[in-house]
Amino acid sequence: MAGEPQADCVFCKIVSGDIPATVVRRTDRTLTFRDINPQAPTHLLVIPRVHHPDAAALAAAEPDIAAELLVEAGAAAGDDGLESYRLIFNTGADAGQTVFHAHVHVLGGKPLTEGLV
Ligand code: 5GP
Ligand code: ZN
Repeated sequence: MAGEPQADCVFCKIVSGDIPATVVRRTDRTLTFRDINPQAPTHLLVIPRVHHPDAAALAAAEPDIAAELLVEAGAAAGDDGLESYRLIFNTGADAGQTVFHAHVHVLGGKPLTEGLV
């Protein structure tokens, strides 16, 4: 059920501590950690502690937490000394989503000026 921990979800396991991660920020409702396969010098993931399959589902069910993801993304970028950064919400397998627990990528630390895809 949406909002409940999913036994087969890697990000639920990071929330529970069953899978280790390099966590850089925590709030009561979110967790921010470094991506295991970084695509830029800064590559962070901000996730809600509750399970929703993607960002739109999270925003529909719990808009306050969706907003908090953006606040935490900006704060985490600032912690890494970034003034410029890119936020990406992959939604659906054809858009490259591989983990079906809502998350936003925070990318920066190199020029990201060559287009979106
Ligand atoms: P998506 O492709 O779903 O938008 O992004 C999922 C991201 O999660 C990928 O960038 C991938 O590298 C990252 N990821 C997958 N498994 C793990 C893990 O166990 N730990 C961490 N830190 N990142 C993970
Ligand atoms: Zn999950």
